[in-house]
Amino acid sequence: MRLALLTLLTSGVKDLRMSSQPYEYIETVSPEEVRRERNKAREMRASSWWKQQIGKGICYFCEQRFSRDLLTMDHLIPLSRGGRSTKKNIVVACKQCNSHKKNLTVAEIRMRQLAENEQSQD
Ligand SMILES: [Zn+2]
Repeated sequence: MRLALLTLLTSGVKDLRMSSQPYEYIETVSPEEVRRERNKAREMRASSWWKQQIGKGICYFCEQRFSRDLLTMDHLIPLSRGGRSTKKNIVVACKQCNSHKKNLTVAEIRMRQLAENEQSQD
């Protein structure tokens, strides 16, 4: 019985690794946690630290300069992926980069870029 369960679990892992859609993930963060971190992000937005960050006017991702109203707060590790509203996890992003990023982590964006580059070389 236990062996059967183990086999089931390991075969599940294998399936996950073999998946042709590597960007899919299992939701592990509760809505309450996301709500709590969203509230914290709102507090951060009012902080002098954030005003200083956004005052620099530079998007973390594309490093272009934008006017203040085109910049948004972005979480490097998205809240939906267990990221927290801390200074280390929060960056300034232009609206375009923010919407492009969605729920991906920075590592996944990089992986996607590498995959796209490989395809365009074929
Ligand atoms: Zn940008």
